[in-house]
Amino acid sequence: MEPLVSVRRAIKRYKRGSESVEVLHNLDLDVAPGEFLALMGPSGSGKTTLLNLIGGLDRPTEGQVLVAGEPIDDLSGGELAKWRSRHVGFVFQFYNLMPTLSAERNIELPLLLTNLSRAQRKRSVASALELVGLTDRRKHKPSELSGGQQQRVAIARAIVTDPTLLVCDEPTGDLDRETAEEILGLLQLLNREQGKTIIMVTHDPKAAEFASRVVHLDKGALAAEPAVAA
Ligand code: ADP
Ligand code: MG
Repeated sequence: MEPLVSVRRAIKRYKRGSESVEVLHNLDLDVAPGEFLALMGPSGSGKTTLLNLIGGLDRPTEGQVLVAGEPIDDLSGGELAKWRSRHVGFVFQFYNLMPTLSAERNIELPLLLTNLSRAQRKRSVASALELVGLTDRRKHKPSELSGGQQQRVAIARAIVTDPTLLVCDEPTGDLDRETAEEILGLLQLLNREQGKTIIMVTHDPKAAEFASRVVHLDKGALAAEPAVAA
């Protein structure tokens, strides 16, 4: 099967003053459509850097990132932003919701960049709310929701455009164990029942158990583990 994501000999260097520091070294990674990949590794190993290359938030210094066959590192800044809004849903550790907007308005935000009518947007928001189990909280602002509920809103916002790829950076990093497992269960459901391809960065070996494959990053290089049965 054609991979959905291909990272090809990617190198990422950051400038620190006059020095250039290489944080990803010639990295290769393929992700198949429908996978739920957990990306693990110690702090500073380059997990967020790699995830940002895959999600089109950043570009490799050398090498290529292809998503659905398209080399996204060739896109201009504006094209890349447009590509991202159509193809990638992001979930972050600290939810990144707009504090003044209700849950349903937060979820609607990515749809404002599309041509959907108001009625179509409403339908999409309603089904995303339903999927994450928050229909009864749709009028609440983030401050009126628990951490787990806020992360559910963030997940609904990430999937409301029906993206090709869901990328999650430590999505349970700020949650207690029980809430974390609810969120992981939700991601697993999206993967298994909605066929969403998910790439999730996590510190937590328990979190990785929800994934269909785990890869380890150490000092900017990958060490693969044998695939575990889903
Ligand atoms: P992780 O997510 O695994 O903790 P990161 O990808 O955030 O690691 O960072 C990997 C390395 O790159 C770290 O040493 C970090 O300090 C460095 N780094 C990350 N972002 C930048 C940046 N914008 N400028 C300079 N160095 C950075
Ligand atoms: Mg990180």
